[in-house]
Amino acid sequence: MPDNPLFQHHAIRGRRGEGPTLLVIAGVHGDEFEGPAACRRLIAETEPDALSGNLHVIPMANESACRCRARCGSDGLDLARTFPGRAGGSITERVAHALSGIIREASAFIDLHSGGTIMEVAPLSGYMLVQDAGVLERQRDLARAFGLPLAWGTSAALDGRSMSEARDAGVPAIYAEYLGGARCSEEGVAAYVEGCRRVMALLGMIDPMPPSQLVPECVEDTSPGSGHMQICHPAPMEGIFVPSVQLGEEVRRGQPLGMVVDYLGAEQRSIPAERDGRVIVLRTYPRVDAGESVGVIL
Ligand SMILES: [Zn+2]
Repeated sequence: MPDNPLFQHHAIRGRRGEGPTLLVIAGVHGDEFEGPAACRRLIAETEPDALSGNLHVIPMANESACRCRARCGSDGLDLARTFPGRAGGSITERVAHALSGIIREASAFIDLHSGGTIMEVAPLSGYMLVQDAGVLERQRDLARAFGLPLAWGTSAALDGRSMSEARDAGVPAIYAEYLGGARCSEEGVAAYVEGCRRVMALLGMIDPMPPSQLVPECVEDTSPGSGHMQICHPAPMEGIFVPSVQLGEEVRRGQPLGMVVDYLGAEQRSIPAERDGRVIVLRTYPRVDAGESVGVIL
């Protein structure tokens, strides 16, 4: 097994023949649990005799953040903004550095997320709209094969992410989101295991699977900040967020997503939708600081 003091890393070498190396990681944010549970199940259910190539699984990439029960590590850094990291840096920088080396060695890469403690995200698989046409087409194939309702291509200009590390190494990569809200969705875990297996089938690592009943909606957004969920619909003041829409709801521009109120209810500020579309991220944790996102509209 690979030896790494920063996180547990499990490798399964297929005995059925040569093939690609698929890397699946989860727990980049320490308060997201669907991905880690799916990784455990993937490890338990992957039979080396039925596998071609190599499956590498890192179920909890950010152990420091998980110990803090938080998105970020004990140094306050967000691992998903710290790639490629530094060998001699803080804990999050060292984890980013170690992961970068593993990502660069992979033939394909899946990074499993969710909404964590404070958000819920509609199930989706995402990828960067990278310049390399071959890698981009591969990413589209992986995202569709993963089998969630939405395949979402967004700006390749964002740095510091596992996706940008893969972009720079020319490794086809996707990430996935499935609910969150401080829970671990069993439905999400099952969907993630199936998604990883569908990608393995697409890559020829396991036997083909029966076609999915679900045809994903494919949306690509080339605007520069697209895919950066933490900047959308910022709260106008600190207080308690009271949503007036639900995850997945269709909204019109100007329609309130909810309001932020102070403790007495004396001051109330509405947060209007910035565009027509569907709510794909919604804040579930009521306390909010000024400038924090309360939701994302597709
Ligand atoms: Zn995350």
